[in-house]
Amino acid sequence: MSRYIGPVCRLCRRETAASKTGEKIKLFLKGDRCLTRKCAVERRGTAPGQKTAGKSRAKVSEYGRQLREKQKMRRYYGVHEAQFENYFREAARVPGQTGKTFLQLLERRLDNVVYRLNLASSRAQARQLVAHRHFRINGKIVNVPSHIVKPGDVVTVADRSLKSPVFESNLDAARNRRPPDWLEWNEQEHSAKMLQMPAREQIDTPVDEQLIVEYYSR
Ligand code: SF4
Repeated sequence: MSRYIGPVCRLCRRETAASKTGEKIKLFLKGDRCLTRKCAVERRGTAPGQKTAGKSRAKVSEYGRQLREKQKMRRYYGVHEAQFENYFREAARVPGQTGKTFLQLLERRLDNVVYRLNLASSRAQARQLVAHRHFRINGKIVNVPSHIVKPGDVVTVADRSLKSPVFESNLDAARNRRPPDWLEWNEQEHSAKMLQMPAREQIDTPVDEQLIVEYYSR
């Protein structure tokens, strides 16, 4: 399945329009630009293709809620459908809470780790930077955005990348913003160590993973 290449704000508008509580769902697909007043969800809460907010939508089935939650989480992390399902199957094989393991797998993707370290302004940019060989893991260049980072691994910005203009601003952001507690940023080495598996409360992804477990368990 090909990657979605249309306007990403439509995805946020779709999720917001489907929200039963009327909550504005921001997937932060444009990085820092999502914090501006130009955010499409802030400006208009209508679904794509809808000019004005319509009457309240028909009652959403349980299946509909599960499907929307699954789509929201998939878009949040920017993962293809098949790959997303593979993560779920992998998480289901691990003893314990499947939803939590599933979320931990997505959080530990290298592109997400780079984003969480503030070394990229969005997950899309993080994917591109990883693919362009800007990062090493334990000393070896890794150019696969879906690579799963393990506790104890050290992610380092490649030396040649430090002079690149994009890293000048991104390293500034990494310096000034704190990463989540499961990652430790080392300013001198331009590297970060994964200290532990992320706990559920350390993952701020606004999803109800239980609904996704139910979706795949039908
Ligand atoms: Fe979503 Fe960001 Fe667009 Fe707002 S600006 S609608 S958060 S992608």
